[in-house]
Amino acid sequence: MRVLLIGSGGREHALAASLAEDESVTKLICAPGNPGMAALGDCVPVNQTDPAAVASLAVTSAADLVIVGPEAPLVAGVADAVRAKGIPVYGPSGQAALIEGSKAFAKEVMAAAGVPTAAARVCKTREEAEAALDEFGAPYVVKDDGLAAGKGVVVTDDRAQALAHALQCERVVIEEYLDGPEVSLFVVSDGQHAKALLPAQDFKRIGDGGTGPNTGGMGAYTPLPWAPDDLVAEIMERVAEPTLAELAGRGIPFVGTLYCGLALTSKGLKVVEFNARFGDPEIQAILALLETPLGGLLYAAATGKLESFGHLWWREGAAVCVVVSNEGYPGDTVTGRPLYGADESGVFHAGTALDASGQLIATGGRVLNCVGTGASIAQARQEAYTLAEGVKLEGGYYRKDIAAGI
Ligand code: AMP
Repeated sequence: MRVLLIGSGGREHALAASLAEDESVTKLICAPGNPGMAALGDCVPVNQTDPAAVASLAVTSAADLVIVGPEAPLVAGVADAVRAKGIPVYGPSGQAALIEGSKAFAKEVMAAAGVPTAAARVCKTREEAEAALDEFGAPYVVKDDGLAAGKGVVVTDDRAQALAHALQCERVVIEEYLDGPEVSLFVVSDGQHAKALLPAQDFKRIGDGGTGPNTGGMGAYTPLPWAPDDLVAEIMERVAEPTLAELAGRGIPFVGTLYCGLALTSKGLKVVEFNARFGDPEIQAILALLETPLGGLLYAAATGKLESFGHLWWREGAAVCVVVSNEGYPGDTVTGRPLYGADESGVFHAGTALDASGQLIATGGRVLNCVGTGASIAQARQEAYTLAEGVKLEGGYYRKDIAAGI
């Protein structure tokens, strides 16, 4: 099987590493890929959000399966364009990806499907926003309706700050604050049937102890030793299956990853958000434990054959991912500094590039993901931190409390 993988982040590097281990994958093409992925497959340039360009690359590279990693190409309709060429694609249509691309659409689908979530108001004017802030009270939760790379959400006790964020967005969702721990569950769907991966938890804030602004994610671990045994079954039954059935019933079957972000609140489980792709960095940790060949699983989903695929197999133990970011992240970052310690096994590239002299440099906000595994979370954590300590980057930063005390 020839696989074309779209994306260039840590998630895609981890997907590429798992695909490279799958014996059914004979050729891996990464577009555009990154310097870490170059060791696993051919990297070719492409404008990821140009559906026609990706579809034509899928044809010229004779791909048997296209996997779309990030959300922006999905919302742009890349999966539709590839599917129109008759090539199986793992990733939802542009319409189905609106479950992530529009928070207002997600809320409407959840209401129709009877899925538990925070009460919310969609606001377009200052008056509507002020009324919603006062209705729900502090802590205020204000979400940009559109895609914002995990940074469109403000949670604050400061009403003025909440209102200022609302006024910056064309359309916002203002909602009830959800207390309790958060869980990410990634559900692989072929449009009709679904399989859950291991549940994980991520760390969204930049600072230790969950302080400072939200980021794309600073670390993650899996599985969740503290979670109730029936958690995954409950999420499948109350959240994933009704949502997938609702979308299928509307004629927009969801083929790809339904990422269920949940809060385990004092009033039961509630959806915080849906995404239309694997979460980064949770998937880096989850894939470290997946024993089932990834290419076969995603091909079965892309071709509507998940029901007969069988059981997923997992390695015993735990995995922890620690993200190393650039100075300044999640604000303006300093980029272009030389980077060392990035070619160890378990280190996945995100914001990296080669300069003209062939030196590896740090470019994006999140630079590397360090994934450790072990018999326990504590052991996996130790391995992840050993990898992070081995990274040499001036101004490089990582949280010290990922999966601490779990
Ligand atoms: P989202 O982009 O919707 O996932 O939001 C990003 C993060 O903001 C979530 O992972 C939560 O940590 C936080 N958040 C979002 N919605 C709520 C909510 N209703 N109550 C509390 N925290 C929330």
